Amino acid sequence: MGSMLKNKNILVMGVANKWSIAWGIAKKFIEEEANLIFTYFGEKSKANLEKFLVEEEIDNPCLISCDVSTDENIEKAFSQIKERVDVLHGVVHSIAFANKDELQGYYYNTSREGYLLAQDISSYSLVAVSRNAKPLMTEGGSIITLSYLGAERAVTNYNVMGVAKAALEASVRYLAVDMGEDNITVNSISAGPIKTTSAKGVRGFSTLLKGFEKRVPMKRFVKTEEVANTALFLCSDLGTGITGENIHVDCGYHIVG
Ligand code: NAD
Repeated sequence: MGSMLKNKNILVMGVANKWSIAWGIAKKFIEEEANLIFTYFGEKSKANLEKFLVEEEIDNPCLISCDVSTDENIEKAFSQIKERVDVLHGVVHSIAFANKDELQGYYYNTSREGYLLAQDISSYSLVAVSRNAKPLMTEGGSIITLSYLGAERAVTNYNVMGVAKAALEASVRYLAVDMGEDNITVNSISAGPIKTTSAKGVRGFSTLLKGFEKRVPMKRFVKTEEVANTALFLCSDLGTGITGENIHVDCGYHIVG
């Protein structure tokens, strides 16, 4: 338990269940005394969050519904956030979605609709969220999103999500330029594979995991807590000079051929 995020109001988007990377980050941020606001997608995620926050002994948690598929939903969520806090110091965007049947087979079979859906939820949502967060980030701060190596390499079956992540990482750089003068940093964390609900949607994910352990320099999987530690660093006063960066937290997987 520390106080690296004491007096910081941080929005966490993307907790669905206890395996969610966003929940790993939230737990770490709670340990460091952050004041967290959560957006959730769907009643099941809300119920999970309520249960987890009781377990963490958080009184009066702020949980706001937000399906990021429309600007109106995002604007509505931020108007509710404004009722709760005057200033936001951080945003953790841990959201992605693609049709399961497009996370397998030939990438060229991706439908127009499926392509746009993956881009919309997994990439554009960061742009809209950042636009809405900026007016509240009057003291500077940190915006973080989650990416994967499939943005940089053609990873089997990752397909349309890899292309969405490439757009997401490019967005991070453009947003970093836009937000820099307001002392707001924008970065992505490229996490190694972690068993979560989203990851299991990629066909052959368990096969990928077997290969990962053999090939990765550190000969082990990355832990959600290690991703959370990097998010903590970026959101704390230690990470203030880093922006537009894509930090690999993957036990070195991205460096091997
Ligand atoms: P997860 O399934 O727990 O999280 C994905 C979240 O996206 C869920 O909370 C879900 O509710 C939310 N979401 C989906 N559609 C939404 C919508 N329309 N509106 C709002 N929220 C919506 O899985 P995760 O692995 O924790 O994924 C979090 C992020 O980490 C994603 O961006 C994912 O691509 C990325 N990531 C995951 C891995 C991995 O191996 N698990 C590796 C690298 C990056």
